[in-house]
Amino acid sequence: MRVLKFGGTSVGSPERMQAVAAIINDSHRKIVVLSAVTGTTNVLVEIGDKLAEGNKAGAVAVIENLYEHYKKFIATLYKSESSLEKGKAVIDKQFAVIRSLVDVPTTVIEQRILVAQGELISTQLFHHFLTEMGRKSVLLPALEMVKIDDDNEPILSFIEEKLTALLAQHNDCDLFITQGYICRNPKGEIDNLKRGGSDYTGTLLGAAINAEEIQIWTDIDGMHNNDPRIVKRTFPVREVSFNEAAELAYFGAKILHPTCIRPAQDRNVPVKLLNTMEPSAEGTVITNNVSDRAVTAIAAKDNITVIKIKSTRMLLAHGFLRKVFEVFEKYKTPIDVITTSEVALSMTIDETSNLEAILVELEQYGVVEVEQEQSIICIVGNFSPEKSGIILNLLTCLKDIPFRMISSGGSKYNTTIVLKTIYKVEALNALNEGLFEWK
Ligand code: ADP
Ligand code: ASP
Ligand code: MG
Repeated sequence: MRVLKFGGTSVGSPERMQAVAAIINDSHRKIVVLSAVTGTTNVLVEIGDKLAEGNKAGAVAVIENLYEHYKKFIATLYKSESSLEKGKAVIDKQFAVIRSLVDVPTTVIEQRILVAQGELISTQLFHHFLTEMGRKSVLLPALEMVKIDDDNEPILSFIEEKLTALLAQHNDCDLFITQGYICRNPKGEIDNLKRGGSDYTGTLLGAAINAEEIQIWTDIDGMHNNDPRIVKRTFPVREVSFNEAAELAYFGAKILHPTCIRPAQDRNVPVKLLNTMEPSAEGTVITNNVSDRAVTAIAAKDNITVIKIKSTRMLLAHGFLRKVFEVFEKYKTPIDVITTSEVALSMTIDETSNLEAILVELEQYGVVEVEQEQSIICIVGNFSPEKSGIILNLLTCLKDIPFRMISSGGSKYNTTIVLKTIYKVEALNALNEGLFEWK
């Protein structure tokens, strides 16, 4: 069995939905995970923000605009009057949920219900489209299968149990459709796997059923060696290892959700990155295979905050690091990059909702400085201790660009640089020119 995930642009228009129907039209038994129609989640976030600010009129205008968009969408998607009616019933039902949130106080719970509507709409519309084409499919409710724990981590054993039971009810069916991104939390409320989370749903479901492979279909021909939105010339990397892909995703390669690789890696299920716009293109395959390339790819992550703490005593004095890390643990704030000297410690975080409280507590242990608007650049490749020369090449590329931190040796797969975001584009382009073989 396979799991195929299609992102927002892949279901972004009636034509694209038709293209997806063609891609899934083979004899493999499969689960198809869909994102919301492109742009929808952003608009739902905007509606939630307007409601939270008390701007009801603004929210209603955006809601009705989105509703009109979907009315046009279904008018083009379906041929028959009866399918159009089913599509209309879907959008009316989900927009009734959206409209019902206008007159109640807006908390994070209502905002999560709002942003869940995109995937609920796209999957039902697609299901009715397949039915119109004569293709039998079963809708699986992600809200009954995907659950996160108190730390917002998906519970794979729960997913496995629920998914297996649901599939067993439909032994005669070979095509299942479900929502990416959405889930329930331990309180039973509607929640989500964070932006871009449909990739994560895809790999979680794939791991849960030990799928033969997981395919992530998007709008580009695989994982590129650098961010194609910023860097002038990039190329697709055909094979990437799980470890490399996990580092690239975590440190900003937008093509993959930051933590989606782990479930596939744990169960050794290959992940393919494929292009809906060009289904026959080779794409990228992510497996356990390790190549001996010096550098595989580069990714970057913005909105990074550097916190430096200078100890009044010797830094590595017994217990100091533990006390510092306990502060971050208390506020459930992950630290990404760390560098140390004898008396000082620099750390990066990207989750800053508890920054003030963290700083107050850290001040007990030393002098604290904060720098914002920083970026992490992650260079993924073979940095094993037996290899020499890569760091020299890397630093040569950056010879004219100031940077704040460099961390290497944490894993043999990556080296990270932290610099001011204003230098990011220049640094990515310089590394791109200097670290890859250009024929
Ligand atoms: P989807 O909606 O299908 O999930 P995303 O927009 O989340 O698609 O991810 C695909 C986009 O990721 C590409 O269009 C590309 O602009 C961007 N991207 C950033 N870094 C990379 C990279 N290293 N390789 C490929 N695409 C990347
Ligand atoms: N629709 C969600 C988002 O835009 C999830 C996803 O597309 O992966 O973030
Ligand atoms: Mg995405």
